[in-house]
Amino acid sequence: MDRLWRKSLRRGSLFLGNDPMASMDFLNTAEPVKAPVVRNIPAAEKPTLIGLSREDMGRALVEKGVNERQVKMRVSQLWHWLYVRGVSDFDDMTNVSKDMREMLKTHFTIARPEIVDEQISSDGTRKWLLRFPARGAGRPVEIETVYIPEEGRGTLCISSQVGCTLTCSFCHTGTQKLVRNLTAEEILSQLLLARDRLGDFPDRDTPAGAIVPAEGRKVSNIVMMGMGEPLYNFENVKTALLIATDGDGLSLSKRRVTLSTSGIVPEIYRTGSEIGVMLAISLHAVRDELRDMLVPINKKYPLKELLDACRAYPSLSNARRITFEYVMLKDVNDSLEDAKLLIQLLKGIPAKINLIPFNPWPGTNYQCSDWEQIERFADFINQAGYASPIRTPRGRDILAACGQLKSESERMRKVERMAFEAMMIVGHGEDD
Ligand code: SAH
Ligand code: SF4
Repeated sequence: MDRLWRKSLRRGSLFLGNDPMASMDFLNTAEPVKAPVVRNIPAAEKPTLIGLSREDMGRALVEKGVNERQVKMRVSQLWHWLYVRGVSDFDDMTNVSKDMREMLKTHFTIARPEIVDEQISSDGTRKWLLRFPARGAGRPVEIETVYIPEEGRGTLCISSQVGCTLTCSFCHTGTQKLVRNLTAEEILSQLLLARDRLGDFPDRDTPAGAIVPAEGRKVSNIVMMGMGEPLYNFENVKTALLIATDGDGLSLSKRRVTLSTSGIVPEIYRTGSEIGVMLAISLHAVRDELRDMLVPINKKYPLKELLDACRAYPSLSNARRITFEYVMLKDVNDSLEDAKLLIQLLKGIPAKINLIPFNPWPGTNYQCSDWEQIERFADFINQAGYASPIRTPRGRDILAACGQLKSESERMRKVERMAFEAMMIVGHGEDD
C-alpha cells in the first residue's frame, strides 16, 4: 500500500457529499482496490474542441479554414465522434479525411485530462483525482470526481470549481480558497473520463486499462455536488450540462442531472429557464439566524427569497421534485422543532428531503447528530408525507469526502516543489 492510501484508511472518510437518493444497504468489508494510474498528458498549448457549443465549434473550425458551407456537417461529424463514440484521438475518426484529421491535429486537442490517481472502494465507489493543464483559464488544477454505483443506476459526482468562495461553516471545501472556476471542457471531461474508465461508451472498444464493473456500469445520473458552487460558474456549467444532455451526443436525460446550490437565487431562476435540470438546495437550517451562520450566502438571499425561487422552478410535480439537503449537526439543527418548521417552510413545494449525516473533518467544531436522532427526525418528516432518505456514506475507505484528497496532493507537491527549488539554488538542476 502506498503512503497516501494508508493515510486514507487511517483517517477514514465518513461522508461523500454527492448522493441525493442513496439507500442504506451496504457495508462491504472487502479490500479496496488501487487502480493503475494512466498518464496521458494533454496537449496543453492547443485549444480544445471538448466543451464547445455547436456554434463555437463551428466558429473555431471556420477560423482554421473549414469551408462555411461544410461547417454544419463537420460539426455534426465531430459531435458524434466526441460524444457518442467517445474518441479522444483524431486518428480514430475513421470517416474523416486524412487531410482534415491533420488539420484538426495541428490546431486542436481532444485529449482527456491526466489521471493522477484512481481508487476503487470496497463498495464499488470510485474516485479520480484529475489534473487539467493550464489551457486558457490560468494555472493547472486538480479536482476530484466520484462515481457511485447503486442498484439500477450509477451516479457521477462532478466538481464545478476548485475550492469555493463561499464559507459554509460545516464544509471542508469552504475552508479552501477558490483557486478558479472550471471551464466547460473541464466539467464535461469529468463525465467523458468516467465513461472511458468504466467502459461506458457502448459504440467503442473498451479503452486499455479501463476497469469495467461486472454490472451497473453505466453513468446514468450526474450530480453537480463535487467541489464548488455551480451557480457561481453559471455559464460554464450551463454549457457543459447542455452538451451532456444533448440528444445527439451524450444524451443524459435532464431528469437524471441534479444541480446542487447553496442558494444563489438569481441563478436558480436562470437554471430553471436556461438549463432545465433537477434542482437540489443545500438548506441545512430553517431559521434565518441559524442559516446565516451555517450557509452565510443566506444573508444575501434569505430563506423567503430562496423558497420563492424554488416555488417558481419550472415543471415541478410529484414526479419532478426539488431535493432539499439537510446536514445533521448535533444540537445545532437536529431537533424535532426544526423538523416541524422544515415541514411548514416547504409547504406547497413538491419536495424530497435528503438528510446527510455530517462528515467531520480536522478542525471542525461540529459533530454529527446521534443516529437515533437522525432516525427520529427522518420519521417525523416521513409522517408528514415527505420522502426523507438518509444519505449513506459511500466510499469511506477511499477518503471520498469533498476536497480531502486534493488538499493531500497539494501538500505533497508543495514539499516536492520546495525540494526542487532548494536543488536549483545549490546548482543541482535537471542537467545533473
Ligand atoms: N456548493 C454546492 C454543491 C457542493 S456541496 C452546495 O453547497 O450545494 C454538496 C453537498 O454536501 C451540499 O449539500 C453541502 O452542504 C454538503 N456538505 C458539505 N460539507 C459537508 C459535510 N462536512 N458533511 C455533510 N455534508 C456536507
Ligand atoms: Fe461551497 Fe457548497 Fe461547501 Fe458551501 S457547502 S462552502 S457552497 S461547496
